[in-house]
Amino acid sequence: LRTQTVLMTSSSSGDLYPFFGNKSTGGRAFSITTSDLWHRRLGHPGKSSLASTISNFLPDCNNSAPSFCEACHLGRQPRLAFASSNNVTTAPFQLVHCDLWTSPVTSFSGFAYYLVVLDHYTHYSWTFPLRAKSDTSPTLLRFFQYILTQFHVLIKCMQYDNGGSSSIQPFVPFSLIMG
Ligand SMILES: [Zn+2]
Repeated sequence: LRTQTVLMTSSSSGDLYPFFGNKSTGGRAFSITTSDLWHRRLGHPGKSSLASTISNFLPDCNNSAPSFCEACHLGRQPRLAFASSNNVTTAPFQLVHCDLWTSPVTSFSGFAYYLVVLDHYTHYSWTFPLRAKSDTSPTLLRFFQYILTQFHVLIKCMQYDNGGSSSIQPFVPFSLIMG
């Protein structure tokens, strides 16, 4: 812009402007750009596509590894970010998270559901393969019993996603549930 020098010209027969770049022409036009800038200009291509484009068409481009691209990361996220949590635990089994995942494919052994239990304090998790959704409650009861037997503590609170909004429920001892 400063020198008003024409660096390159290209004729177009349609909506696109073809660029037949080679080592001698156009090099100056791209020598001051970085691979990050080309990543954005070319519509955020993947690493290998960008590297191939740079090596074939942009000979003098600063071919450094592209840095972190926030737009790419956000664009690949199918969900919004989780709401920040202010749950604080000071010991294991004060808060336990549960989630039941339905597999689109039944396993060779006939498991179609996977119950994941995660302790908030330790982040230790247990995964139970289930054949039926109705196996969830008995499996959880066995898990509570296991925690009581092995660690001599009762789970205080459970957080689960009831097919929608998540909620924290005080844990009802299994003797009450079973009774
Ligand atoms: Zn990107």
